[in-house]
Amino acid sequence: MHRLRSASTDRIKLARRWTQRLLAGAFLALACCGGAAATSRPASELPVATDARLEQAGEVVRLTLALSQPVPIETSVIAGPDRIVIDLPSVNFQVQPAASRKSAGFVSAFRFGLFTADRARIIIDLSNPALVTKAEMRQRRGGFGELVVEMTRASRGEFQAAVARGRPQQAEPAVAPPAPAAAPADSRQLVVIDPGHGGIDPGAVVAAIAEKAVVLSFGQRLKETLEASGRYRVLMTRDDDRFVSLGDRVKVARAAGADLFVSIHADSLTQAQEVRGATVYTGSERATDAESARLAAKENQADAVGGLEMAEEVQDVAGILMDLAKRETRTFSSVFARNLVEKLGASVKMHKVPLRSAGFKVLGAPDVPSVLIELGYMSSPKDAELLNSEAWRRQAVGAVSAAIDDYFLRERAPAGKAVLNRR
Ligand SMILES: [Zn+2]
Repeated sequence: MHRLRSASTDRIKLARRWTQRLLAGAFLALACCGGAAATSRPASELPVATDARLEQAGEVVRLTLALSQPVPIETSVIAGPDRIVIDLPSVNFQVQPAASRKSAGFVSAFRFGLFTADRARIIIDLSNPALVTKAEMRQRRGGFGELVVEMTRASRGEFQAAVARGRPQQAEPAVAPPAPAAAPADSRQLVVIDPGHGGIDPGAVVAAIAEKAVVLSFGQRLKETLEASGRYRVLMTRDDDRFVSLGDRVKVARAAGADLFVSIHADSLTQAQEVRGATVYTGSERATDAESARLAAKENQADAVGGLEMAEEVQDVAGILMDLAKRETRTFSSVFARNLVEKLGASVKMHKVPLRSAGFKVLGAPDVPSVLIELGYMSSPKDAELLNSEAWRRQAVGAVSAAIDDYFLRERAPAGKAVLNRR
């Protein structure tokens, strides 16, 4: 009985390896050509944006931004939700966050931040369709620059036409190419750590602390710990404050042939400050409960927050092989998720239902076991304090890396090889 089960598991593993290799080739080709290999300048050398103002004058809503020097700009529009996007080179934004929460006329809010290592973005949210009627970078005395963007209301038809005209330039931000795929000499397991949000997408923000920063420092610490063990290769989907689309996060893991994908988040619930503790999620089409479904929907908005159009997922390429890989991946994901709950539960406070699933886009790789950890709720004052405490972080990182050790020791290597040799 046992032998039967493991023999079929091994066939699936073989299929999975094969699918992975097949798909990896295709995705590597996609992922490596963006060429945004981080040539980021230190923030001190970047042009500084200091003062942003949004105001209405008659029919016109005007956004102005003061800069330490003029920079080239480009504007575009995106529908669903309707937004105006201003792209510019990397800028050090020293603008009061409160300034961007203002609304004026048909502009409900705007936000700004790094989009890739060398590009920044301003996104203007529209409550009604509108178009840019003027966009210029003015030279100011003393070498300063001033960005002036004027917008006026447009019909739905005019807006859609502008969206269609701009579409060919709507490229997803390029990601840094993954480490040369599976250097053959290095047979160590490859773990991809995925700190959520970043750049223009801060994630949850509570009392001036952004989720993107909390999860990045957790991810970096986890990477150090895993690498120090000498047992793993570790790749991060981002290791600084930049925006990475959900699709690119998945692509990085697949192109590199990752053995495990761990996404890190720390959300907030505006309505329930008493809800707290860590939760481990796996992906599934059907959510285990309403709260998980809501959370997944919120996390899946990350691309829209960063100013991307929702892209259709390219999938279902390999039929039966893909189905097998998916089913097997799901099994491994839940094995790892259970390990995580066990290990985390022994050292940090867990949510009362600590193991759940929902349709998280970022857990969508059909051939890489993937989980998403919500470290805690930034909306809970107690959790927020822990998330920023060194002692808590050390414990939680220790628990996650112990769960990773367990997963690879117990569930992977040994059984597979034994049966394959016999056949
Ligand atoms: Zn999040």
